[in-house]
Amino acid sequence: MPIQTSTLPAAAARALSKEEIQRYSRHLIMPEVGMEGQLKLARAKVLMIGAGGLGAPLGLYLAAAGVGRLGILDFDTVDSTNLQRQVTFSTADVGRPKAVAAAERLAGINPTIRIDTYRTRLTSENALELFRDYDIIVDGTDNFPTRFLVNDACVLLGKPNVYGSIFRFEGQATVFGYPGGPCYRCLYPEPPPPGLVPSCAEGGVLGVLPGIVGSIQAMETIKLILGIGEPLIGRLLLFDALAMRFRELRLRKNPACPMCGDHRTINQLIDYEEFCGIRGEEAPVMTTGIPEITPHELKARLDRGDDLFVLDVREPHEVQICKLKDGHLIPLGDLPRRVSELDSSREIVAYCRSGRRSADAVQFLQQAGFHKIWNLKGGILAWSDEVDPSVPKY
Ligand SMILES: [Zn+2]
Repeated sequence: MPIQTSTLPAAAARALSKEEIQRYSRHLIMPEVGMEGQLKLARAKVLMIGAGGLGAPLGLYLAAAGVGRLGILDFDTVDSTNLQRQVTFSTADVGRPKAVAAAERLAGINPTIRIDTYRTRLTSENALELFRDYDIIVDGTDNFPTRFLVNDACVLLGKPNVYGSIFRFEGQATVFGYPGGPCYRCLYPEPPPPGLVPSCAEGGVLGVLPGIVGSIQAMETIKLILGIGEPLIGRLLLFDALAMRFRELRLRKNPACPMCGDHRTINQLIDYEEFCGIRGEEAPVMTTGIPEITPHELKARLDRGDDLFVLDVREPHEVQICKLKDGHLIPLGDLPRRVSELDSSREIVAYCRSGRRSADAVQFLQQAGFHKIWNLKGGILAWSDEVDPSVPKY
């Protein structure tokens, strides 16, 4: 599909300085970029949603390439678990706002560009106003409410949404919301049930993966600005890092899409957390009706010598990281066929990393006729915070 460069601003009339000509010389000597293309980059305004794993290569490459105005939206602060993949940040940045730390790093790479930081959550109230100032939005988020919100705001404003997502060893990238092309809702009309799709915090991600997918997003962004090549419009690129294989799915615009179809039924931004059935950034554990025990209560009962069976429903490789004393391991997935190993006459406390999987285990065991069973609230993370800080969090 040809690029409509008309949706992007015309190149500035100004010329590059002598220093800029030197800086961008490897662009300028390619006819596909040249002086005209470099000026298009200088005039381009790109908003990055998220300065995390995908945002790292994105920001580094867009800044280095000379994208004239970069917006960085991220409400979060740098955490030590980010450093394994979010290569914008240094160890000294831990605890600092991501948007600020990223802006400093990018300004160091290219002091000639303008960088705007937004230390806020993207919401239905602020999205349209924020997006309006930019030509291209790049979605580097990791949760469904924000993805639907970014999509809908882009379609409403007619701005391309350069999309990427990652999980464990697999990544996806495409361009949504381009005039005539499909949108995220054409691919996913409905959000997945809450809790069905684990986040990177739950499922893990190999650190290089966001580096690759975020670089693909950076490349697509620059191609859109320059109006060259064949963009990922209507094509979903699937990357399998273990097999080192790229595949492609053709995405069609869905005529019945409520957002970009022939008869649009969504004309304004909605409550996306409600739409996705969750509240808050991380889907909370659905513990309604599930009996819980706090880390302090469990510690007190174990110290008293109460007869408690501590059931660890994590995976064996997690037990190598840390465990509670005298925990018996039955991974959640094995529970149905190993339920006979449990004694329903004894009191059972199930735990996992965060309390989510063990809540599922408690629910399953209740249905299987266990009545004296509790979920350790907040899992091993809460145990580390509230009872024993020597237990590492992961
Ligand atoms: Zn659509």
